[in-house]
Amino acid sequence: MNILGIESTAHTFGVGIITDQGKVLANVKDSYTSKDAGMILDEVSAHHKMVAEDILTQALKTAKLNWDHVDVISYSAGPGLDPCLWVGYHFAKDLAEKYHKKLVGVNHCVAHLSIGKVYNKLKDPCYLYVSGVNTQIIVFEEGKYRIIGETLDIGLGNLLDKFGRTIGLGFPAGQVIEKLAKKGNYVELPYTVKGMDMSFSGILTKCQQLYERKEANQEDLCFSIQETCFAMLAEVVERAMAHTGKQELLLVGGVGANTRFCEMLDLMCKERGAIFHKVPMDLAGDQGAMIAWEGFLRKDSYGDVEVIPHWRTDEV
Ligand code: AMP
Ligand code: MG
Repeated sequence: MNILGIESTAHTFGVGIITDQGKVLANVKDSYTSKDAGMILDEVSAHHKMVAEDILTQALKTAKLNWDHVDVISYSAGPGLDPCLWVGYHFAKDLAEKYHKKLVGVNHCVAHLSIGKVYNKLKDPCYLYVSGVNTQIIVFEEGKYRIIGETLDIGLGNLLDKFGRTIGLGFPAGQVIEKLAKKGNYVELPYTVKGMDMSFSGILTKCQQLYERKEANQEDLCFSIQETCFAMLAEVVERAMAHTGKQELLLVGGVGANTRFCEMLDLMCKERGAIFHKVPMDLAGDQGAMIAWEGFLRKDSYGDVEVIPHWRTDEV
């Protein structure tokens, strides 16, 4: 069985094709970027509409498949940006009707977890999900995903992108910040862990103030943001693993592309005799293959659920 998945929740439009064994046959995507702004909703949804057909054609070509070989079409129903979600939904629905395929709406966050789990062949890890909007520590218990720690305000990716915008790095900024951080020294920033939760907006404000007052340079701020925020997450995840007894950690989401972040988490795991896992770059950020795999897992329990913009991980 082959499943075709469509991703459109935020800045990325992607189409992935996966087998029922979890083998990725194609994973084609195109992401909206901007030089001096963040995500302008009309522009992002227009981007998705513009690239959709081409991405789909490329995905089928890469997988060397035609529609006879596709059994299920899945799409990201949420959470995400409303206008972007509707672009993906309509695109998926039209295809499902045209080619008489089953349509399955899936949760984008859970798709990140599922693709990481199948890729690493894991049984029952503690999940750390760090993307643009989301920062969550998750475990699977009693048949449900449970969020045992999360950001109280913005996601870590959002902090990186907003700070990047302030200092003119363009969108998205995570990768550029990682480069600049290599040349930086530590300046003190607020360390805001509250029980199992954390908060990033005060760190953003502090960095913006230090930069505007010329009290710290770009490199130092990039370095210090990374060291502070990654340490905050490593602390909370370590506590989560200690309390739940999980022996494996799985990092997913776009910020998982950061080498320093992985290094810290790997060290924390090693020190407690646990194993750290991540996903390769092409499966870390938003893409269609994870939506296809989640579609396979949910094909008998979910269907056309339209769009659910605020669908939380613990509601799946
Ligand atoms: P996602 O929403 O899962 O696609 O993740 C997108 C987020 O990942 C954006 O906020 C990016 O700035 C961030 N990101 C991408 N690459 C890196 C990196 N190397 N280091 C830190 N953040 C990154
Ligand atoms: Mg995502």
